[in-house]
Amino acid sequence: QPVLGILGGGQLARMLALAAAPLGVKTLVVDSAADACAGQVATLITADWTDYGALEAFAREVDVVTFDFENVPAETAHWLAQRVAVFPAPRALAVAQDRLAEKTLFRDCGLTTPDFMAIDTRADLDRALSTIGAPAILKTRRLGYDGKGQFRLRSLADADAAWAALGAQASAHGLILEAFVPFERELSVIAVRSRDGDFRTWPLTQNWHTDGVLSLSLAPAPDVGTLQERATQLARTLAERLEYVGVFALELFVKDGQLLGNEMAPRVHNSGHWTIEGALTSQFENHVRAVLGMPLGDTAARGLSAMFNWIGELPDAAPVLSAVDAHWHDYGKQPRLGRKVGHATVCAGNAKQMVERLGGIAHALGRDQQVDPAVRELG
Ligand code: ATP
Ligand code: MG
Ligand code: MG
Repeated sequence: QPVLGILGGGQLARMLALAAAPLGVKTLVVDSAADACAGQVATLITADWTDYGALEAFAREVDVVTFDFENVPAETAHWLAQRVAVFPAPRALAVAQDRLAEKTLFRDCGLTTPDFMAIDTRADLDRALSTIGAPAILKTRRLGYDGKGQFRLRSLADADAAWAALGAQASAHGLILEAFVPFERELSVIAVRSRDGDFRTWPLTQNWHTDGVLSLSLAPAPDVGTLQERATQLARTLAERLEYVGVFALELFVKDGQLLGNEMAPRVHNSGHWTIEGALTSQFENHVRAVLGMPLGDTAARGLSAMFNWIGELPDAAPVLSAVDAHWHDYGKQPRLGRKVGHATVCAGNAKQMVERLGGIAHALGRDQQVDPAVRELG
């Protein structure tokens, strides 16, 4: 029986383990938290990233290692790669961990990015602000997620406040200043590449964030025209450059009808959760297939899907459970402010049906606002 090893035991590892089971694949997860939610559906080893004794035993038991958590230290990934197959490879992980390396690669691959400059000192920040201008966003190069490690500057006068918030992290992780993009839409493309180079993308997804955290996704994104082809071609170029194996997400802004690269996530992605019920093969199943060297499955959408994220705490499940073609996901996590604790996906055959179903569920939950932008997009 093939054994999949996953570094990190959050909801992504949990959904990977659930997708692995029907393929006859057993899952072993490493996380430093004894209550990591993937432990409810997979075997959990409690250890941190430098516990090489525990990692040695883990490496002996698994056929392949992959990630639920993109910020596993590069040394840990390299150390494991000397003992067992690791996908995506540590080099690809390292690029995606660093906003500077990632945006540089995007440009090399022909993907335009917002203007950016590396910031190591307060003087660098002043210089970058005079070049890039305001509004702008100061971000840590590493370790940020869900909008954490970011400071938005509305004007040049915010430089002091930005430095007070993030300056202390400049020496350890480095910072990057990016131009703020007043985008028309936010899209993501989820892509998968197999060990023998087969490459596929799911249809583009449109995403809406609240306070830097994904709130709602709609797929396939309506009226994307030639952007689908362009996004697929860019994702393929990136994947081939990195010799990438597995699923990754490329987050994009649309500005003046053109794509700009925001970041890539070297793993299954929140904006791809709709693929569990909404696509012929989910991102989770195809990631398991890719890293274990199995043939990939079809990535076509079955119809339209919309995904709500549950942040902080779960709402009442009943309105979702009792709706047609709506799907409830409880990650089994303790409620906590800002934490992703679950999601729901609503599927429909056409835009009109989606507006009715989505609107009905949102209304029953008192969350009309959360679905408003998608309802408007569906016209
Ligand atoms: P995650 O990994 O959870 O997607 P993150 O912490 O890595 O998030 P980003 O993706 O960089 O953060 O930013 C979060 C959100 O903030 C983006 O999806 C986008 O909505 C907004 N944002 C980030 N950078 C910019 C920018 N340069 N211009 C305009 N909006 C931005
Ligand atoms: Mg990110
Ligand atoms: Mg992001």
